[in-house]
Amino acid sequence: MKRLNPTLISALGLSLASSFSASAAQPLEVELYRGETASVNSTIFSDGESLIVMDVQRSTEEAKKLGQQIKAKGLPLTHILITHGHPDHYIGMDHLIKTFPDAKIVVANDAIKQDIIGFSTWMESVGWLDAEPNLKPKSAKHPQGFDYQNRIQVLPSNTLAFAGGNTLTLETQYQPAEAEHVTTVYVDSLNALFMSDLGYNKVHLWMGQGVTNQHIDNWKQQLTEMERQYAPLQPTLYPGHGAPTDAKLFSTMIEYMEYFQAVTADAQTKEAAMDAMKSKYPDYREADFLLKYSVDFHVQP
Ligand SMILES: [Zn+2]
Repeated sequence: MKRLNPTLISALGLSLASSFSASAAQPLEVELYRGETASVNSTIFSDGESLIVMDVQRSTEEAKKLGQQIKAKGLPLTHILITHGHPDHYIGMDHLIKTFPDAKIVVANDAIKQDIIGFSTWMESVGWLDAEPNLKPKSAKHPQGFDYQNRIQVLPSNTLAFAGGNTLTLETQYQPAEAEHVTTVYVDSLNALFMSDLGYNKVHLWMGQGVTNQHIDNWKQQLTEMERQYAPLQPTLYPGHGAPTDAKLFSTMIEYMEYFQAVTADAQTKEAAMDAMKSKYPDYREADFLLKYSVDFHVQP
């Protein structure tokens, strides 16, 4: 028998060592809390030793139900990860951090933290936080308000670790689309892509205030890239809004956006655009909210 070359032996040794350390970490499990408001999802990841929740609902009322689902799992919640600066994904954080005081509220980068602060500052200015006074930005006027600056931590890297050593890898390299900045997660062991609000399944897409035609074009391009990258793996897609589904979602969403752009470019009135979208997509949810504000922004009277 030929002698094994030493480079090969050390390569084998390394790969054995890394497969041992990989098998020491517990496989991840995932559970959804599917919100009633705006059909928004919260995702509870578990490695069997600790929990991370991604996105936490539009209201304290719904956050209470989410909190009960987390509690029922009987494991420590270490992190509340907010994927982007839209309130349907972060209003619940005040209730959750009070319920799980050892958890940390985290975001993938400072831009997302600033988006959250900017959105809440604006909502406070127009009275939208009167129903959720604990989320008013802490100030001399609102000393009991939420201390966004100190409570939200920017992660030092793009990984988030569970107690048992497994990690989530966060992806944020996206052009402005549904939101200015967004975080997604692909989990190898589950072959699952957690799309946050780059994904909507049978829920009208948010293309309201701030989501320009350029943003919609960026979004379509991003979905095309994701389709090329992920469709061959036949992953499960977890959208930010609506039920988990398969990789057909990429092309379904692109078609929806093209139809929306054509309808809103041609429509004489907002009512005509609403009617056209509703008759093409009769089983999509949130027509009175997500679609209405999207049409308002794209059809000028
Ligand atoms: Zn959303």
